[in-house]
Amino acid sequence: MPMVDAPLDVAISGAGPVGLMLATALAARGARVAVFEAGGPPDWSSELPDMRVSSLTPASRCMLQRLGVWDAIVERRVSPFEAIHAWDAAGAAVRFHAADVDEPALGYLVEHSLLQTVLDRALRQHQSGRVQRHYHCRIDDVLVDTDCCRLRMSDGATVRARLLVAADGARSALRQRMGIDVRSRSYGQQGLVAAVRPSVSHGRIARQRFMPGGPLALLPLQDDWCSIVWSLPEAEAQRLQTLDDDAFLAALDEASGEVLGSMRETGPRRLFPLYAQQADRYVGRRFALVGDAAHVIHPLAGQGVNLGLLDAAALAEVVGDALEEGVDPGSHARLRRYARWRRSDNQPVQWAMEGFHWLFSNADPARRLARNLGFMATDRLPMAKRLFVRFALTSGAHLPRLALGKR
Ligand SMILES: Cc1cc2nc3c(=O)[nH]c(=O)nc-3n(C[C@H](O)[C@H](O)[C@H](O)COP(=O)(O)OP(=O)(O)OC[C@H]3O[C@@H](n4cnc5c(N)ncnc54)[C@H](O)[C@@H]3O)c2cc1C
Repeated sequence: MPMVDAPLDVAISGAGPVGLMLATALAARGARVAVFEAGGPPDWSSELPDMRVSSLTPASRCMLQRLGVWDAIVERRVSPFEAIHAWDAAGAAVRFHAADVDEPALGYLVEHSLLQTVLDRALRQHQSGRVQRHYHCRIDDVLVDTDCCRLRMSDGATVRARLLVAADGARSALRQRMGIDVRSRSYGQQGLVAAVRPSVSHGRIARQRFMPGGPLALLPLQDDWCSIVWSLPEAEAQRLQTLDDDAFLAALDEASGEVLGSMRETGPRRLFPLYAQQADRYVGRRFALVGDAAHVIHPLAGQGVNLGLLDAAALAEVVGDALEEGVDPGSHARLRRYARWRRSDNQPVQWAMEGFHWLFSNADPARRLARNLGFMATDRLPMAKRLFVRFALTSGAHLPRLALGKR
């Protein structure tokens, strides 16, 4: 890896969707930026859909559009959905439609590896020469000086950066190295994800059935495949993971109540531990956290990556403005602004997820009554419905300029 003379403006550890989006947004503001990723470059393939799919909000779509990568996603594979149906085992139900909020879609299902691939390509093709991507490379040591961070990389190179950002996921090694603790709480559940093919068309509707053991989401993909995210008690998740395909599809038929007829085919299955987590601080000296390195939430409302993309856009806005004003991008006052902004947006979403989990993953009759009343009220009161959907479409955030279609 070449030595650089002047320090970078920003060094980012982790090329997940959030690290790559941050680098792309910073590059668009003219920053000198480098991304260091422990694994290899993203490798999306057009064949079977990636097991890991994210539901992107219209706010995330708008940011990706503004950064010039949305068309590349649309050209490859994206599945918009116009409605959400949610119901519980006792039959209480609520439906949301894009028309309720005058949007073309309530969300867009995009494969994790595709999102990374298009962002990585945008960085590779960046004309400015101010962007570096380093795969199979991690930060082994950090020394924070008065004017920059001095980094020693796993390939032996040294790098200086005025701001260092951890985008290296929920178990962030860099966050630990920088001495930031987290508060974690396990849900005692695992998320089982797979692509499955039902016998009835999904009709571009995202469906979620709430059951005492955890919710089952059936998310519409192209060619009438669905991505499932099934939250299950740990032992049950392990059991379903080891079943052969026919037995697994039969279990899925029972859990889905055959809302899409019987399931015909399944791709490989994968389990993810489910837990909530918040970092004690989002920033330190010349240091910031974004995405899952800062916060992890239950996937039941599909908000995780959207919150991370908003972190990335907010930090790029704060740093981009600092650079334009001739202010040090690692300035603690600016970083505190980012931390206050994003924590005050992320924390309520996490509390909302905790509330949903408490209310829905349980067979207690009092909670069942509360759920029925909640579903009924939301379904029948157009104003309540609009407010709820608007909150979900923007992840409850004070939107960064990028999400409003500005620079
Ligand atoms: C079952 C499940 C379903 C989900 N569904 C949804 C959904 O529908 N919608 C949604 O919005 N979110 C969803 N999420 C959450 C979403 O996947 C995460 O919020 C998102 O991946 C976070 O992105 P990130 O870039 O912060 O971290 P990650 O995607 O974890 O990326 C971190 C990157 O850092 C790299 N890395 C790790 N350690 C190092 C190191 N030491 N040095 C350098 N690089 C390193 C990793 O290789 C990786 O590339 C779901 C999560 C789960 C578990």
